[in-house]
Amino acid sequence: MSIAKDIKDLLYKYIKVESISFSPKERLVEDFLLEYFRGIPYFAKHPELYGTYDIKDDPLGRKVCFGMVRGRGSKAVVLIHHSDVVGIEDFKLLKEYAFSPDELGEKLLEIKDSLPADAQADLESGDWLFGRGGCDMKGGGSIQWSLLKQYSELDDFEGNVIVVAVPDEENMSAGMRAAVRLLAELKDKYDLDYQMMINSEPQQRKSAAEGIFSEGTVGKIMPFVYVRGYLSHAGKVFEGFNPVNLMSEIVRRTELNMDFTDVVGDECSPPPTWLYLKDSKTVYDVSMPLSMAGCLSVLTLKQTPMTVIDRVKNICSESFDAVLKDMHESYDRFKSAARPVAQELPWQTKVESFMELYNEASTLHGDSFREAYDRQLEQITESIHKGELNIIESNFKLIDMIFEYIDDLSPRVIYGLIPPYYPSASNCFFEGIGDRANISEVLNDFTMKEFGQTYTREFFYTGICDLSFSGISDSKEVTDTLKESMPLFGKYYDIPFDALEKISMPVINIGPWGKDFHKLTERVNKVDLYERTPKILDHAIRLLLKK
Ligand SMILES: [Zn+2]
Repeated sequence: MSIAKDIKDLLYKYIKVESISFSPKERLVEDFLLEYFRGIPYFAKHPELYGTYDIKDDPLGRKVCFGMVRGRGSKAVVLIHHSDVVGIEDFKLLKEYAFSPDELGEKLLEIKDSLPADAQADLESGDWLFGRGGCDMKGGGSIQWSLLKQYSELDDFEGNVIVVAVPDEENMSAGMRAAVRLLAELKDKYDLDYQMMINSEPQQRKSAAEGIFSEGTVGKIMPFVYVRGYLSHAGKVFEGFNPVNLMSEIVRRTELNMDFTDVVGDECSPPPTWLYLKDSKTVYDVSMPLSMAGCLSVLTLKQTPMTVIDRVKNICSESFDAVLKDMHESYDRFKSAARPVAQELPWQTKVESFMELYNEASTLHGDSFREAYDRQLEQITESIHKGELNIIESNFKLIDMIFEYIDDLSPRVIYGLIPPYYPSASNCFFEGIGDRANISEVLNDFTMKEFGQTYTREFFYTGICDLSFSGISDSKEVTDTLKESMPLFGKYYDIPFDALEKISMPVINIGPWGKDFHKLTERVNKVDLYERTPKILDHAIRLLLKK
């Protein structure tokens, strides 16, 4: 059977498994794929070479699915894709067709005038497959499984190929974080020499004639800032310290601040942006809020959590100084016009990490604090798992709780990190990988010759993807920083750094051309899906596994 037909047959069924991220339906993928394996003679004969792998403490009981074809030697290539898809809220009246590409295509034709011009043209051309997950990324997944099936039918195969399908990519990447452990175990068990991790996320082309290979991916870090003020009535402003004032200064100095961006070659990470900002008020009254908290997303190319958190800390201190200076100026003018409430304002700059705050409470109250904290952390973890509390609110609930054990109530800023953390990964950081450093060039020669198409290389995929968990080199420093700064690290959120260091390998993303990910008009190019991408992937795999 031709690979195009294999891919199409599998993809239509794969899409039908409505595996919306962080929903119970994600688990239907497991039965679906196990059934798929049982239908392939090689896997029926070698049941130890496919199966599921548990995600520890997963609230939905989800598992990673994997299959492996063993050939000669120890060289191995790892293909990964995610089996979850985003929700279908924006399908509105077309929800029932979201998982049926052909029917959806017909329905979209009926409302084509309401679609953007580019989507309309693609729809009418018939060259694109629509439907939730077709592009992001069961298309790439179906190509990977179909290639594995083809390799399983060969008597004579050089090297080893593993395909891993992971849940939860669109959420916290619990699947990929577990897959790292699986890959470390397989490496030991079969004495594998990992050559490269290949993802097949869709590539977003800038022009129709030019594809993209990504030899890496951006990282993502989410620092939080919590400002504790000093409450007073609005008529007595100088007796209090309004956290809104200081927080505004911190937000203004960080939002879109180019000092946070990395430049590598001609690639640059976008500057940070705030994702969440709230004060602690729940009712209206005439006093200032007691605290204000928020978090920002920072995308990285080469920065570590430590450098990012240091920068946040410095900005918090500078902001505190600047706000105090303004306050003193106001107060001086106020004093010359009215009878002062106090001789001098008592406030001083105070900026601390989460761990410093924790230690202060721990020193003051010892075991009674630590036990209460652990209980709170356990309750919070349970609430997040049940979907009653989001991860950001949980983080601040913990900080609020620690403040109940703090005696010094002068204003201060607490900073730290909220999960998830995605390390950046790129072949440009890898030394000693020999020919593999030229893989994009070699593949580009191939695509020129085969399809007359050029592919440009980028060192960082900007869409954030699971290739972040392909390896790490400075795991001790990162672990220490996360322990120090991330209240939810360890209990609720974990990264298996030892295993990650063990499997460390270069990466590449080779995926089909796709558009409008996560939208109603999500679509994948059929020629890429059925012909070009499988050929490029096959060529890459054989190159990497060559003796
Ligand atoms: Zn994706």
